[in-house]
Order: sequence, then structure tokens, then C-alpha cells
Amino acid sequence: MTRKILAALISLFAAACAQFSTHGTPAVERLYVMNCGEGVAGDISRWTPGMNEGKTMAFVDTCYLVKHANGWLLWDTGIMDAVAGMPDGLKPADPKAVHWKRPKTLAAQLAELGVKPSDIKYVAISHTHADHSGNVNMFPASTLLVQKAEYEWPVPAGQPPRFKPEHPVQKLEGDYDVFGDGSVRILSTPGHTPGHQCLLVKLPKTGTVVLSGDLAHFKDNWDSRRVPSMNTSADQTTASMQKVAGVLAQEKAQFWINHDKAQRDSMKMSPQYYE
Ligand SMILES: [Zn+2]
Repeated sequence: MTRKILAALISLFAAACAQFSTHGTPAVERLYVMNCGEGVAGDISRWTPGMNEGKTMAFVDTCYLVKHANGWLLWDTGIMDAVAGMPDGLKPADPKAVHWKRPKTLAAQLAELGVKPSDIKYVAISHTHADHSGNVNMFPASTLLVQKAEYEWPVPAGQPPRFKPEHPVQKLEGDYDVFGDGSVRILSTPGHTPGHQCLLVKLPKTGTVVLSGDLAHFKDNWDSRRVPSMNTSADQTTASMQKVAGVLAQEKAQFWINHDKAQRDSMKMSPQYYE
């Protein structure tokens, strides 16, 4: 009898351990990389001032779904799903910007995993440009994790507010440890926009990754620490790049660049996942 109780206790303990990392804290279980748009930039000199005049480049747009023991978090929502129904995609007002298409919707990729929008606890976006915030309203019950500086960034005259006022939100002022165990951390990285942020995720097998948002748009720009012309602050961007470079070195982390097609083409895409 005692043995049976002991065996039961051991299996209970093992089950409890399976939910926790080696550090004894609840942990990230999986990360899915999702196709949230594909496009062509008309003239990449707007990202590389003084260089690449008239040169076009293929861009991708990426969303990331994180499964933590204490809930789902979606990082960036991509270009709006309605673009999938537009035969010629979404033409930008500025022909130098990106002409986006949507080969797969975010909704279909979530459905493929059996995840309902109402299952998502947190929606965190790097910033409020349309290629990152396009589907925020698909998740009216999820708590938004955005910097106060981004939330309160005034919109141009005549434009609707950046977020619906009734959308649940946690307005952040700086870095934020989402689940309180250090495994998913928002890094405040202003400069591209006033409240731009990156996301650090500690995966049990893959190791630590930092998701770029638009801190850099492609690897060559990151390596050269170039500041695109549309950024709201060059000084803040440079400081944010230095901050993230320090984090990458300290955490021995990979840097996953949202719009970098060459890098994304080498990745496992949902429904495959990283763990
Ligand atoms: Zn972007």
C-alpha cells in the first residue's frame, strides 16, 4: 500500500514537473511562425537612406504564436486578412512602400491548429503600422500588450483611433515580463514608432529568440545598424538597436527579423513549430 502511494506521488510529481522548466517556473511550450503577408517593396532606399535607389526587394510579413503553460500569446497580427480576397493585393499609397498580398489568412492558420481567437489571452504588437496591427480586432476579448507611448501616439487628422477604446489593454511603460517567469519578455525599443517593442521568448529546446518587430527590416540593415527614413526618432532607434544587441549577446539569443524573406524561407512554418 505504501509503495502504491509512493508511486502515485512520484507520477503526480513528474506530471507537475512536465509543466515547468528546469528553473522551476512555468514555461513556454511552443512557438509557431505564421505567414502574415508577402509583398514587394517598390524602392528600398526608404529603408536604406542614400543607398539602393530604385531597387526593389521581396518582403515577408510574419506573425508568431506562443504557447505558454499559462496561456496563448500572439505577437503581431500582420496585414489584414481581407487582403487575401483582393486579387491584386493592397497597393501602397507611396509606390516606394510594400505592395502586400496575403497568400494565407491568419484566421485559417489559427483554425488549422484548432486555436480560436477567444483562446488567445494576449495580443502583443510590435507597433501600430498596418502590416503589424491589421487583425487586432479579430481578438476583441484578448488583452492588448502595447506601450503607453504607442497607444497614445496621436493619429493623423480624420483617422480612427489606433485601438478601439473598449478593447482590453495593458498599457506598458518599458520592459515587461508577460507571465512573470522571465520566459516571455517585452523589450521596449522606441524609434521606428514612439512605442515600438520587441519580444524575447525562451524556448526549451531552440533557446532564446528575440522577435524584431521593425527594429530592423532585413539582416543587412540590422548588421549595418541603418535607420530608415520613416522612423519617428533616429536617436531612439540607435539606442534601441544597441539595447537589443546587448540582450542578444547576454542571452546568446537568435534575432528573428519579421520582414526578412531569406531568413523566413529557412524557417519551419505553422503548423510545424519550435519548442
Ligand atoms: Zn513592418
